[in-house]
Amino acid sequence: MASAFDVIVIGGGNAAFCAALAARESGASVLVLECAPQEERGGNSRFTAGAMRVAYNGVDDLARLMPDLTDEEKANTDFGAYPEDQFYDDLCRVTQYRTNPKLAETLVGRSFETMMWMRSKGIRFAPIYGRQAFKVDGRFKFWGGLTVEAWGGGPGLIDALYGAAERNGIEVWYESRAAELIHDDDGVHGVVVRKHGRTTSVAAQTVVLATGGFEANAEWRTRYLGPGWDLAKVRGTRFNTGDGIRMALEIGAMPCGNWSGCHAVGWDRNAPEFGDLSVGDGFQKHSYPFGIMVNARGRRFVDEGADFRNYTYAKYGRAVLEQPGQFAWQVFDRKVAHLLRDEYRIKRVTKVSAETLEELAGKLEDVDPRGFLEELRAYNAAVRADVPFNPNVKDGRSTRGLAINKSNWANTIDTPPFEGYAITCGITFTFGGLRIGDDCAVMNIDGAPIRGLYAAGELVGGLFYFNYPGGTGLMSGSVFGRIAGTSAGRAARS
Ligand SMILES: Cc1cc2nc3c(=O)[nH]c(=O)nc-3n(C[C@H](O)[C@H](O)[C@H](O)COP(=O)(O)OP(=O)(O)OC[C@H]3O[C@@H](n4cnc5c(N)ncnc54)[C@H](O)[C@@H]3O)c2cc1C
Repeated sequence: MASAFDVIVIGGGNAAFCAALAARESGASVLVLECAPQEERGGNSRFTAGAMRVAYNGVDDLARLMPDLTDEEKANTDFGAYPEDQFYDDLCRVTQYRTNPKLAETLVGRSFETMMWMRSKGIRFAPIYGRQAFKVDGRFKFWGGLTVEAWGGGPGLIDALYGAAERNGIEVWYESRAAELIHDDDGVHGVVVRKHGRTTSVAAQTVVLATGGFEANAEWRTRYLGPGWDLAKVRGTRFNTGDGIRMALEIGAMPCGNWSGCHAVGWDRNAPEFGDLSVGDGFQKHSYPFGIMVNARGRRFVDEGADFRNYTYAKYGRAVLEQPGQFAWQVFDRKVAHLLRDEYRIKRVTKVSAETLEELAGKLEDVDPRGFLEELRAYNAAVRADVPFNPNVKDGRSTRGLAINKSNWANTIDTPPFEGYAITCGITFTFGGLRIGDDCAVMNIDGAPIRGLYAAGELVGGLFYFNYPGGTGLMSGSVFGRIAGTSAGRAARS
């Protein structure tokens, strides 16, 4: 067997590096296995905008987390608060009360302290002015519980984590795909790795799995999420093919959570099969609460204003996948153009513009123009103009009398120029995974911990069902990664 380490962490994203740094803190020697080449390192975490959902009680907490916050920013911004209760309620509500209460409590209760710990490792944070706050009467106001992002977004977060690992003497092997767990009746003792195409075995006292979900595996998607999911585009890394889950199940781990569920969003119809690091999350199109979405028949199919985008975007990808041809168009007019997020202004966007609605109808590729114009007329006539429009709150400006009403932010679409954006379904990550205990040990099918095996990040099952509150993926990787690493480090040294 090749040289031994106390702890092997499998995966090269946020969960893996939080685990590796925590394990190192307990004095363990740590090896990280990343199957991607160095240029593509960092998993889905690198593709993110770095948004992290954290509980905080007001601007003073945020100032501890972000000491760079200027007095001017503090004066010009209403940061509000996002107390633990609210985070917990949001998580329970969007998962239809299926989330495992223990996992949820840990995630929420340890979110702030974990970010402070990350800060101590050299990770920096900033307020998300661009996407999560609108300016009202000269002052920014944050909405939707999502206030903080990693400095430099996902790429910044990943560079900072790899930098911290290097400073802390953590070894990283690239192009090293873990293939199997070495185990016997006493637990896990190492990993079989394909390193640069050669198979080798590496011994370790404990192993942490942080290999993400199975979103990049078309066969597993179809098998577990259902027919049609092979047709979804993958928003992030091509390397998350369910390996960690498979390796654990092979040695008797218990599956857990919403195996038929996933996080999936509206994503540019012409985006490539997998994520493109030069575009990051720019193919997403998340300003639909301010417009409408229509399918090939020209018909609306969801309540675009059911809630803030943070609480609907992760489930609307599935709704788009279910439409004929797996696509939709988002339509806006000039009144709301200034509210569209940055991603609407990237170069690689599938967009049409028109001066009249009839002209627009003819330009929406693969859409029945008559159906669209009928739908739009009915929609415009149903908008409650008596309620004022306010993008910062759920304004109750709805439609009345439609088969599918829009509950908030309903504006007539009548002011040129009109814009249409074509989207399809982009899968972000899968919800099903492994059952873990309090210390992030992987549980076996009899409900006992598998000695020497821990897990964190996307491959943990039981936290997300049906839907997901934006910014929770990174936070989950950080909180559980840190716990898994601490547990693995301590067990290895005991
Ligand atoms: C476009 C996009 C935008 C997003 N935006 C946000 C956001 O703003 N905020 C947020 O909270 N979440 C966001 N998410 C979700 C978030 O990325 C994930 O929930 C989170 O990053 C998962 O972290 P992780 O460490 O578990 O997995 P990953 O970061 O995906 O890491 C998994 C790692 O495992 C490696 N790996 C896989 N198999 C093997 C193997 N056999 N051997 C060795 N290595 C292996 C992969 O190469 C990868 O490095 C976004 C996701 C995408 C795709």
